[in-house]
Formats: sequence, structure tokens, C-alpha cells
Amino acid sequence: MKSALMGTAAALGMVLGTAAVAQEQTFISIGTGAVTGVYYPTGGAICRLVNRDRAEHGIRCGVESTGGSVFNINAIRSGELEFGVAQSDTQFQAIDGSGSFEGEAFEDLRAVFALHPEPFTVVARADAGVRTFEDLRGKRVNVGNPGSGTRDTMELTMERFGMTMSDFSMVSELQPGEQSQALCDNNIDVMTYTVGHPSGAIQEATTACDSVLVNVSGEQIDALVEEFPYYRTATIPGGMYRGNDEDVQTFGVGATLVTSASVSEDVVYAVTRAVFENIDQFRGLHPAFENLDPEQMATDGLSAPLHPGAERYFREAGLIE
Ligand code: GLU
Repeated sequence: MKSALMGTAAALGMVLGTAAVAQEQTFISIGTGAVTGVYYPTGGAICRLVNRDRAEHGIRCGVESTGGSVFNINAIRSGELEFGVAQSDTQFQAIDGSGSFEGEAFEDLRAVFALHPEPFTVVARADAGVRTFEDLRGKRVNVGNPGSGTRDTMELTMERFGMTMSDFSMVSELQPGEQSQALCDNNIDVMTYTVGHPSGAIQEATTACDSVLVNVSGEQIDALVEEFPYYRTATIPGGMYRGNDEDVQTFGVGATLVTSASVSEDVVYAVTRAVFENIDQFRGLHPAFENLDPEQMATDGLSAPLHPGAERYFREAGLIE
């Protein structure tokens, strides 16, 4: 009996010992978006720089393809993910308890840093006769999958233009990765994507068939940009996509990296440091990062309180007072 108990204790000791060793490695996951978007390669770029210094900090970083901003913040809240990429308006709404987070503010949401700009991008089949947002009436429109930031941007824009889902002849909720093909297969007339540029999904939609980027502008948008600090007018430069040589006017948000107050200061510090100390290399990892500026990344579009780990790095680097 006694020896059996001791045996158990020894086995337990071994298990605990193994656990202690495993704890020296910290696993973190970053929630991103569709693989043809920009969030997914963004997560990949962050993890690449973090993993390079693994011997120093013991963090192993991985990326998950997800449904987008709202999904990512909810997964951080439930503890499924440690980090996520999210639109600056979604970040605001989550901490404020508005929009998709109406009455359910996520008080432990923390901002890490800002990333690339994301213009609201509406692409129509060239033969659909759509040149402005108002031309969407009567068309077959993909409004974005639930859980995406795109869906929220689309609903907001519709509201501003006084439109509802019933103004479209057909509504679909395809994922960003599916909608380019649906557009070129003539299953929808219009796709929508709040995304950095250039992005794989828009490249696909403009090369696999003839399609045009649509202006989303006018007094409704001017009023929106005036009202909220996290929306701004945006231009998608002409010549970036096949068949679209003119600049397109729209509005947009910024992509941001977010986490939870329950993620440790050391982990968030290490992630922030890996990106900012290698900013030139980071910029080279995706063309949408070309104009990233560390000072703006430390402040722009961050509505949630800054995580103490990011704050520690920004102070050390003299990026904030
Ligand atoms: N802004 C999009 C969203 O939150 C995702 C864009 C991307 O994956 O690059 O749904």
C-alpha cells in the first residue's frame, strides 16, 4: 500500500516536472483573417520576427486564419487566442460596448500597436454598371461574413446611404476568400472587403475577370469621417489593380493588433519589441506595410488602453512620453 502510494507520488512528481519544463515555452496564437487578405500575412510577419528570437524569450508564435476582426476579439475574450488583428472601429466598439459588442463591452481588451490602413473596398463586375455605392441598389451583393469587420463597415455604410438588405436583389455572406471567385463566376455582382492594399483577394477579383473598384464617397461619408476619429477618407491608387487605372475614393479604418489584459507583460513586450526593433524588415514583409511609421503605430487608432507590455517598450524606445 505504502509503496503503491509512493509510486503514485513519484509518478505525480514526474508529471509536475514535465509541466514545469513545458512552461518555459510560451505558446501564443494570433487570430487573423482569410488567407487572401492582409491580416493573415500580417500575423505571419509578426510571428516570423517573434520566433526568430525564441531562444531569448521562449515564445512560440503561431497564426490562425479566422473570420476577421469581431471573431478575433471574441476569441481573445474567451481565452482561445492571445492576440488578434482587428479594425480600429471594431476595437473601439468592443471596449465601448457598441456596434457588434452592444451591451457587452470587453473591458479587458488591450491595444498593442497599429498597423496598415484598410480602405473599405467595393468591387463590382465590369458588366454590372456599378460606379458608386448608390448603384448597389438592385444588385447581387456579398455583404461580408458574420464575425468580419467588413460586415460592420458594410452595414454602417448602408445605414449612412439609407439602404437596407432588401435594397439588394440578392444578399450573400461569403467569406473573403470565396467572394472573388463568386464575382468572376457571375454568382454575385458586387463584393466588399475592408482590407489593406494590395491584397490577394482584390488581385484575384481583378485578374480572373473584368471588374472595377467602386467609389464610396459623398456627403454621407464626409459626415461619418467628421463624426468618428477612427474613420478617414482613403484613396486606392490607380494602377494597383488590373483594369483600374484611376484613383478610387473611399473611406477606411486602420488595422490594429490587440490582446487581453490577462496576457503577461513580458509576452506583449517581446512581441512589440520583435516588430519595432526590426521595423525595416517588417515593412518589407508585405507591400501594405510600406508606409508604416513607428510613431503612428504606437498611437493611431488605439482606443482600448495600451497593454502595459507595449507601453513599456514604447517608453523605452521614446515613442510615447
Ligand atoms: N478587415 C477585415 C475584417 O476585419 C479583414 C481584412 C484582412 O483579412 O486583411 O474582417
